Amino acid sequence: MILKDVYNKLLEKYGYQNWWPVHEGQNSIVEITFGAVLTQNTSWKNVEKALENLIKHNMLDFEKVYCSDIEFLKELIRPVGFYNQKAKTLKAVSKLFLEKPHKDITREDLLSIKGVGKETTDSILLYALNKPYFVIDTYTKRFFSRLGLVSDKIDYDSLQSFITQNIEKDLEVYKEFHALIVKHCKELCTKKPKCEICFFKCEVNNTEGLKIEKRANN
Ligand code: SF4
Repeated sequence: MILKDVYNKLLEKYGYQNWWPVHEGQNSIVEITFGAVLTQNTSWKNVEKALENLIKHNMLDFEKVYCSDIEFLKELIRPVGFYNQKAKTLKAVSKLFLEKPHKDITREDLLSIKGVGKETTDSILLYALNKPYFVIDTYTKRFFSRLGLVSDKIDYDSLQSFITQNIEKDLEVYKEFHALIVKHCKELCTKKPKCEICFFKCEVNNTEGLKIEKRANN
């Protein structure tokens, strides 16, 4: 299986990533879920600041967030930007987790919440709820299109289907593979890729992807 070869190469180079970054002693389901919402359109560094604020005020808790004063919540998560909408989303997600047993929470439940898109939904399902949904993001798309396996214009669902049809349905592989792709795209397959020192030898289809990224950066 070609994707398994890609996965093994990444694993050999970088080792297990063991996502998600979780604060010791905290409820990892809450932290991962809130982190997935807060990380939209911002860096993980800012998410860390917001999570620290929530921890400091003992608010890494679905019930406390759901019952909290929204203005106070906005202040705590201010470092991530878009805090007006994200505060509402955190409350709505908390309500879902309070109302439904976690094992019964579905992709549709999460997608029905305003402010929760496919990437956030699949991140919560995979990393918080341990359900095998492959997460698609900018890195995943960039990497697979540069490898020449898919078009750089592929949509979320098509890329997700391509990956899941070509690799075993294994929770740990899904988690690690996504984390390794992110690692590789931060280290070597960056916006301006360092192909000369990369262990993948992309030969086909990557030039168009590179051109498009270049245009987007101009
Ligand atoms: S060879 Fe270049 S384009 Fe291909 S994965 Fe490596 S850095 Fe990315």
